[in-house]
Amino acid sequence: MAETIRTRVLIIGAGPAGYTAAIYAARASLEPVLLSGLQPGGQLMITTDVENYPGFAQTIQGPFLMEQMQAQAEHVGTRIVHDLAMSVDFSARPFRVTGDSGTLYMADTCVIATGAQARWLGLPSETRLRGAGVSACATCDGFFYRGKRVAVVGGGNTAVEEALYLTHHAEKVTLIHRRGALRAEKILQRRLFAHPKIELVWNRVVEEVLGGGQPQVVTGLRLRNLETGAVGTLPVDGVFIAIGHRPNTSEFRGQVELDDEGYILTKPGQTTTSVAGVFAAGDVQDKHWRQAVTAAGTGCIAALEAERFLTLEAAETGLAAAAE
Ligand code: NAP
Repeated sequence: MAETIRTRVLIIGAGPAGYTAAIYAARASLEPVLLSGLQPGGQLMITTDVENYPGFAQTIQGPFLMEQMQAQAEHVGTRIVHDLAMSVDFSARPFRVTGDSGTLYMADTCVIATGAQARWLGLPSETRLRGAGVSACATCDGFFYRGKRVAVVGGGNTAVEEALYLTHHAEKVTLIHRRGALRAEKILQRRLFAHPKIELVWNRVVEEVLGGGQPQVVTGLRLRNLETGAVGTLPVDGVFIAIGHRPNTSEFRGQVELDDEGYILTKPGQTTTSVAGVFAAGDVQDKHWRQAVTAAGTGCIAALEAERFLTLEAAETGLAAAAE
């Protein structure tokens, strides 16, 4: 017979949002249970150097930061379960979440913090050189390209913002787009076109990320011109893939309201979703900022909102009982 775990706060996801929600919920004596999923630590587990998370004067590693968050969450009383939420039922309370292990989790409130994944081109060379010159986050890794040449792949807002951001560090930024027009907002396009450090390369796709050595470094990109078929090499020291993100929300489809890109809709300035008692924090509901520190911030809000929700509910139940 499968196990049933009952909790006041079930947190799904073990990135900065999930761990921070756990720390706050545990310190509010709510004894949270956190499902750590397939990739505990989230996107920071594939990030190497982290220099923008406050509190660390020295450069730290992404996995180290996540280990610390996990240890802190456990230290204050979170029960971490290495299980993956496979199906959820938010139609009635307590909410029911079934794990890959077969365990049924019954929860008074739920915090969804399953994050998002950067979309990649899908090239073997891109996978091999990830973290060694291939990145999907200019804010995280741009600093390491001071005075160097970098490329950004993509034509949306993210690609243009990343390209503009990278001009603070890099000597030259090449934006590579597969078509002859960007889909980014016009105001961003104007800034991009006017920037002296940025060059645009249209109608090109990356066929291979070139690089190697020990330690591995990126040395260039092999590009194919989609109009002429010509293949050429662009020498670069780093490449940022900015072709969009995919929120990890497939299990929640039909349970909470999502936007047309699959992100969970929350009330502005809050983590409240379309279901009372279900909260969403971090990249699963934020397609704009996507930083570890902003995810942690919304994780904190989610736990505080869950606590307030349970307190109000208990008060209302008490009042109703007194009136009978
Ligand atoms: P996006 O708007 O979906 O753009 C993705 C870009 O990548 C497109 O230009 C697309 O090309 C290109 N692309 C997709 N797959 C590719 C592939 N396999 N190879 C080469 N290129 C590929 O994604 P985003 O820029 O990350 O933005 C996501 C959402 O967040 C959007 O709603 C955006 O407006 C929003 N956002 C807003 C801001 C802001 O308001 N400042 C900042 C960032 C993001 P095509 O154009 O040819 O399809």
